[in-house]
Amino acid sequence: MSPCAPESAGKYSLRLAPYHRFTVEGRSYVVNTDRFRCARLDDRTAAFLAAWEGDPRVQPPDDVRGALVKTGLLAGERGKILPDGDARLERDRRAAAGWLAGAAARTSTLCLMVAQECNMACVYCYGNAGSYGGGGLMTAETARRGVDWLVRHSGGNRKLGLSFFGGEPLLNLPVIRRTVEYAKQAGERSGKTFAFSVTTNASLADKAAIDFLRANQFQIIISFDGTAADQDRNRPFKDGSPSYAAVAPRIKQLLSAFPRACGRATLYGETDPGGVLAALKEMGFQNCHLVPASGRLLTGAPPEKALFRRERERAAGLRREAEAFVAAVKRRDPAEAARQLKDRDLSLVTSFGRAPFMTRRLFFCGAGRNYLAVDVDGGLYPCHRFVGLREYLLGGVDGAEDPPRGLFHESPVTESEECRRCWLKYVCGGGCAYANIASTGSPFRPDPAYCRQFGQTAETLLDAAGRLTGEDWEFLYQNNVVIRPPCPLDF
Ligand code: SF4
Ligand code: SF4
Repeated sequence: MSPCAPESAGKYSLRLAPYHRFTVEGRSYVVNTDRFRCARLDDRTAAFLAAWEGDPRVQPPDDVRGALVKTGLLAGERGKILPDGDARLERDRRAAAGWLAGAAARTSTLCLMVAQECNMACVYCYGNAGSYGGGGLMTAETARRGVDWLVRHSGGNRKLGLSFFGGEPLLNLPVIRRTVEYAKQAGERSGKTFAFSVTTNASLADKAAIDFLRANQFQIIISFDGTAADQDRNRPFKDGSPSYAAVAPRIKQLLSAFPRACGRATLYGETDPGGVLAALKEMGFQNCHLVPASGRLLTGAPPEKALFRRERERAAGLRREAEAFVAAVKRRDPAEAARQLKDRDLSLVTSFGRAPFMTRRLFFCGAGRNYLAVDVDGGLYPCHRFVGLREYLLGGVDGAEDPPRGLFHESPVTESEECRRCWLKYVCGGGCAYANIASTGSPFRPDPAYCRQFGQTAETLLDAAGRLTGEDWEFLYQNNVVIRPPCPLDF
């Protein structure tokens, strides 16, 4: 594996676009990091790049020169001039400023913390047992003011989102019901439509709740740690009693109403990621998302040893899954290929396989830009994880003005030293600001554990995608394992 290569090293050097070179099981690849275009390298080109990284005076033979032009690392005779580092930085700063000035940066999704209370006491909770340093239930009036604020400040965005979060949001189901009704009316008045989502531990998802969520086409995210042992150890009820037996039947009912519901598991301490993923699939989840626990800003980060400690196994597991996915495709087994893609990380192979990416990602998520959170008292925060941290309070839902977003209007891709140099910046966007702050004290200094893990994931996915031929992709499309993009330009 190589770091991004220096672009110039004196008068003898070739001027190559920035790249990342890596090898998986003897297969060598190079990624043109400016366009995020990955190409398999033949042995001669791989050997040349290795030599050139050690001595930039080395010149390529003609066939290698041709291969470098093909990968886009070297401009051809009449090729386009490759932008240098300063020009790329300037281009990215302009792109970030342009995006921030446009409609897409206006708030379009609001997270309503309808319950800063929880009936569980998860050991890794970043919200101080769901209270976020405060506590209580949001009133219907505060939720309505939140909806009005969103409509007022959403600019030209016609499709708006409301995410109900906590704590455990279903503790405040009556307010969720009233808010959904109110949002629909507000949407009719303003010519906007609302989509709803909820993140729940499933413990309160009875038939009446499920019927309501279904009638309003909610997107469902279920926080659940997969195996009985992990769930009971890390997600006990508040009184300390185990929760698996209580939530498992509820989750099955939710899944029969919402087959696409996402199962989100937190990886913590010695959790075995392979076991968790297998348990989620066994439960019936078609969409499994495993996320390592992050530090906590409200209560102080737990000691390093308490965070997820089996990162290497997760990376090895992903490689095994990618291997099984490629093997299933090659032997034309659509059911197994689809089963493997239930892991959200591995499912990204479909977008990595369609590289080059058309759009450079300049932010990791919408926090503090098109996504904000409202606490039980109507305070506005950059996102749900920042709730309760007064230094990040942006304003309130009664405010007439759209509050300034401070550092959330700066792109890590241009403002973070680490991200500027990173080969993944245009597909990552700088990592989770909250996790970065919890890990390093700064939103612009990424969490090294995340960067390492994302780098390994990206190489695994690029390798898997690189082994699929045109016929393999056609097989995936024909069997609806992967949805064919309707248009290669606009989707
Ligand atoms: S957060 Fe890490 S992986 Fe993401 S762009 Fe920054 S340095 Fe790269
Ligand atoms: S800052 Fe982190 S926690 Fe907040 S929305 Fe972004 S990714 Fe999620």
